[in-house]
Amino acid sequence: MSDTKTAVVTGSSSGIGLGIVEGFAARGMNIVMNGIEPPEQIEPLRQEIEKVSGGKAVYCHANIMKPEGVDTLISTALEAFGSVDVLVNNAGIQHVAPVEEFPQDKWDAIIALNLSAAFHTTRAVVPGMKASGWGRIINIASAHGLVASPFKSAYVSAKHGLVGLTKTVALEVAEHGITVNAICPGYVWTPLVEKQIPDTAEAHGITEEEVKRDVLLAAQPTKEFVSVEHMAAIANFLCSDDASSITGASLPVDGGWVAQ
Ligand code: NAD
Repeated sequence: MSDTKTAVVTGSSSGIGLGIVEGFAARGMNIVMNGIEPPEQIEPLRQEIEKVSGGKAVYCHANIMKPEGVDTLISTALEAFGSVDVLVNNAGIQHVAPVEEFPQDKWDAIIALNLSAAFHTTRAVVPGMKASGWGRIINIASAHGLVASPFKSAYVSAKHGLVGLTKTVALEVAEHGITVNAICPGYVWTPLVEKQIPDTAEAHGITEEEVKRDVLLAAQPTKEFVSVEHMAAIANFLCSDDASSITGASLPVDGGWVAQ
């Protein structure tokens, strides 16, 4: 990449999304952060990102579960920077329950955020990327985009759908300098995961190390969490010119989970 690119990363006020914007900022991109937290809460993070980047960073407080929220996000990016060159569909939620007890509103919410929001953002940015002849779309799916686990019907369906959307759009835009890929992480060490550990240890009557190894990382052969920095590094690589032949791919970053 030679000139300054603009990246929109959904759900980037914490966890993986925040790690990805930090990685993008380090290579000088303009950044559009997004989340559901109020702007005053995110302002210190935004300032930090801007300091690293040398480019600009804006935060868009928008609920992208609704198409109007996606409109707000993309128009904020276009008003601030004039284009969206990199789109990362990262925002996601989870709910765990047997299918016959799965609350219908939770199903609708998970499909809306984890799958439909990525369709709406993609639909909005592809014309601009085609016009400029360059673009990168990165969908943060999951190992659950490739294999299933019980009690996660909505999440697994949405993430498999996101992998399908990735392949379809990749084929449609392949001759326009645009790549579309999914990253499929296993368990990633984020504040959300870290916070569950003491309670799970107490509930199971086991140590925190045993929770990590035998509960959370039961399916992850390396018995190591994926780091947010690993996720950022892959996203950065997919944005490089060296990655211009990688498209329509679903890249597992899961310590060997889906190899089993
Ligand atoms: P997180 O809970 O730390 O962050 C979620 C982000 O999404 C926050 O910025 C939040 O503001 C935003 N968000 C939530 N609802 C939103 C809405 N309606 N509109 C806009 N933004 C919204 O999550 P995370 O663990 O970093 O996960 C990020 C993505 O990675 C998700 O798609 C998740 O499914 C996927 N993933 C995570 C893991 C993991 O172990 N953490 C593993 C596989 C896949």
